[in-house]
Amino acid sequence: MNNTFSPPRNPNSSSLLLTDELLLDYKRCDRRAFLNRYGDPQQRDPEREFVGKLKAENQRQIQELLKQYNWTGPEAPSRDWPQRIAQTIQLMNAGVECIYRGLLSHQTPPTKTLPSLTLVGHPTLLVKQPYPSQLGEWSYIPVNVKLGKRPKTEYKVVAAFHGYLLQQIQGFCPLTPELRLRGGKRYTVDLGMWLPPMEEVLQSCGSMLQSWQEPDVFISRQRCGLCDWQTYCHGIAQQKNHLSLVPGITPSRYEALQALGIETPEELAESEMLPDAELIEGELFAQLQQQAQSISENRPLFRYPNKRLPPFPSAPIELYFDLEAEPDRQVDYLFGVLCVNHETQEEQFYRFLAERPEDEPLVWQQFLALIWRYPQAPIFHFSEYEVETVKRLTKLYRCTYFSLSSLVSRFVDIHHWIVTSTTLPVENYSLKTLAKWLGFAWRDQAVSGDQTVCLYDKWLKVGDRSLLDTIIRYNEDDCRATYHLKTWLEDFLQNSVEED
Ligand code: SF4
Repeated sequence: MNNTFSPPRNPNSSSLLLTDELLLDYKRCDRRAFLNRYGDPQQRDPEREFVGKLKAENQRQIQELLKQYNWTGPEAPSRDWPQRIAQTIQLMNAGVECIYRGLLSHQTPPTKTLPSLTLVGHPTLLVKQPYPSQLGEWSYIPVNVKLGKRPKTEYKVVAAFHGYLLQQIQGFCPLTPELRLRGGKRYTVDLGMWLPPMEEVLQSCGSMLQSWQEPDVFISRQRCGLCDWQTYCHGIAQQKNHLSLVPGITPSRYEALQALGIETPEELAESEMLPDAELIEGELFAQLQQQAQSISENRPLFRYPNKRLPPFPSAPIELYFDLEAEPDRQVDYLFGVLCVNHETQEEQFYRFLAERPEDEPLVWQQFLALIWRYPQAPIFHFSEYEVETVKRLTKLYRCTYFSLSSLVSRFVDIHHWIVTSTTLPVENYSLKTLAKWLGFAWRDQAVSGDQTVCLYDKWLKVGDRSLLDTIIRYNEDDCRATYHLKTWLEDFLQNSVEED
């Protein structure tokens, strides 16, 4: 069932439409809310498969929760808002136990700064409570089902928005709007605390929409990662040579640099002015300058030119390890290991694949057997996930025939080595970005880490082996990319030492 809204793109001059979805987007990124309302749909990326999977999971969460209620809901089509709003009020007046996909609306009077606002919200559920209101001896609280594990600020703002709408409709403020989070966790939102910030968000979002001023682009890996406007915004940021493309520049640091008139990586690299140390302290500023220098000169730099690093680990036989996991099923289903024998010049890729999630203990044992076949070989990997997983699985499957510390001491995190020893002309330090910068190409260019999650999910549903083949190829290329990076890093550090 489609649970989303598609509001009209053009604002009504006498009343500005503000939905809960728009507020949620605004809280994440003001530009996103602006583009969702006024942007050119042609510039929007097609929905990623992974986003579709997240939505499907959210629907499953909702269906699970609905089993607890005797629910009903408005029957008018999704786009017929006036009818759905009227039907929701009818159901509330009738005192039904639970309303699914109800639609709430309220029109605010115009103020000095804003025209009238038409506020529209669609809480996942409206649940009846035994507290009197204008409706009768009962009232309703909003319950929102969210995919996140934590009660994020934007969830609380939206819950407060629904609370506000209910207050207008039933004449009683629901005291305890609820969030149902991933894993069934229940969280109660304190309306006393969240109504004032919600009102501020409402005002500033309304002002932005009224002004038609497109907010400046600011690329942040975390918040832009799943956004539909990513390609469009990234293109603009590149055109502008925008500072947010420099790793380490956060919105508050950006503001501090703008106050000094610094707008581009080149200006940052050459600046002799120092920002307020409370905003960007000296050592961090020096690092940001070095990062900007690396980008503007397009060359790698040694991060601490005067510091001696510990010797870089290498051995005649080396292992390069990468994992694939399916977070929803909480399974690590593919252990890929590239074994590189420098003496014989041979390379062999091993993969231990759980075709069914319940095979995880089996492939874990197979993986252990392989790495103990080469007890002296360092195990190179990229990021902390691999080590954390090895620690977790060792405890889970109670391995007693080796000591965890002896195993973990063999792991070498290439990401950690890179970020503590070098500064590179890149926008971020992900494996994909770094290896691509070195000219490494994945065989399946269009596949990404989050897509492998979808591919495994699909494999479990439809049993198409070509899906597994794609995942294995991707995993092998991740291992090879880590090897590529390690080889480059070893040379680079060696040359830096020789130059000394
Ligand atoms: S890509 Fe980033 S900057 Fe652009 S709208 Fe999305 S979140 Fe905002």
